[in-house]
Amino acid sequence: GPAQAKLANYPKSSFGKQNRSFSASLFDRYPFIEYSIPADAVFCYLCRNFYCASEYKENTFTEKVVRDWKKIGEKLNRHANCNVHLECMDSHKITVQENREYARKTTDLLLYLSRQGLALRGSDETETSESRGNFLELCFLFAKCDEQFEQKLHGTFNLTNHDIQNELLYTAADLVLKHIAEEVQNVGFYCLIADEGRSFKQEQLSICVRYVGADLNVHERFLLFKDCSGSRNADGIYSSLKERIETVGISAVPLVAQVYDGASVMSGSTNGVQRKIRNNHPTAIYIHCINLYCMGHKLNLVLVETCKINRTASGFFSIMESLYCYFSMPGHHKLFRDVQHSLGIKPIELTSLSDTRWACRWRNVSACKSTLKAIIQHLNELSQPGSNRSFVEASGLLQQVQKVDFITCLVVFDHLPSLIQVTHKALQVEKATVSSATKVVTSTATTWENMRNEKSWNRVWADVLQYAENVGISIEEEEDE
Ligand SMILES: [Zn+2]
Repeated sequence: GPAQAKLANYPKSSFGKQNRSFSASLFDRYPFIEYSIPADAVFCYLCRNFYCASEYKENTFTEKVVRDWKKIGEKLNRHANCNVHLECMDSHKITVQENREYARKTTDLLLYLSRQGLALRGSDETETSESRGNFLELCFLFAKCDEQFEQKLHGTFNLTNHDIQNELLYTAADLVLKHIAEEVQNVGFYCLIADEGRSFKQEQLSICVRYVGADLNVHERFLLFKDCSGSRNADGIYSSLKERIETVGISAVPLVAQVYDGASVMSGSTNGVQRKIRNNHPTAIYIHCINLYCMGHKLNLVLVETCKINRTASGFFSIMESLYCYFSMPGHHKLFRDVQHSLGIKPIELTSLSDTRWACRWRNVSACKSTLKAIIQHLNELSQPGSNRSFVEASGLLQQVQKVDFITCLVVFDHLPSLIQVTHKALQVEKATVSSATKVVTSTATTWENMRNEKSWNRVWADVLQYAENVGISIEEEEDE
């Protein structure tokens, strides 16, 4: 836009007996004018910048210095109505329209890359570069199909500067945040969800809200990340949360629930973040678990903890972990595949156990159960002294996997997923209610309790014996144990 310097005093020049100067009120009356401080003169912004071919060029207000403060109004009125100025005004209007159109397209391209999670910049964006980064390459591609866009892209107003890219994205993000805030304000209550995650050397706090939209559907929306590396205690996280919801403009809206993981910093009942939030929002019930649907996650935590307490079970899972480590050593893996192949077993991988991904754990049990024959044969070969460097480990594992404890656990834990799956699915149903969840949990517990009677155990034991026979392990029955 025009340079309209608003000064407290403009230099005075004498006109006869009077001293006169430029007046800032002229900016209001003639929005197209510019005031040059070094020249102490008025110019026409439109004629200077948007002059296009005309029969003659009127250079008053473009090159000629006009400082006639006595007759300035008269001169500007005349200028505002002259043909050259009117042409320039039209040209300006068209340029603005074209630039807006171009900015709209550029923003669309930027949003496309952002939505797809693609990096905008290239490591080398110079003209000789083979690849100038996603954004520039996309612009060039787009230019092939759009002549007007191509012209602008190669002009001075092309919006490809890094700072402009960031500014456009921040503006878009602000608009999205504003929209979410409006929805939350309209419905009048919401739930806050937060979790910490590591990104390179930073601890990032992710903040989301959950609310009912105007369409009566539940929406879960991500608000922002906040670097909380400096203050990871309850006070630090609390003030981060507080500050963010204030910035977004929803701090006055009643909070009805807050959802975090079980870390004591978040969940602590006297000093945790949830308590601090409740001091301001007494209705904000704390719900443990990062995903509201993920009641199944809690079920998994219960199972994993239970397995840790039982000595036989925890021993079993450490052997499983050792097996995984052993078979992921270079050299062993291929051999293991070969043995599976020669025994006609469908090759199955063992994966590392993890506390949070319970599904891997059960999948591993099932993988081990169906490949135990191959595992034993493989360990047998490698446990011969001197056959390889890890023969001691191999013979130790060989001994362990043939024990009755291990075989029994393998059969029992392989049976578990089918039992848990029903519960797990029922708990994750989007429309699950407290009463339906209670029913499922109670009946699961009953089923499990019933498995502990003699009749059920006999059935399990029969399975164990059958399985041991199949894989060629002899089990000496020790009835009294
Ligand atoms: Zn003009």
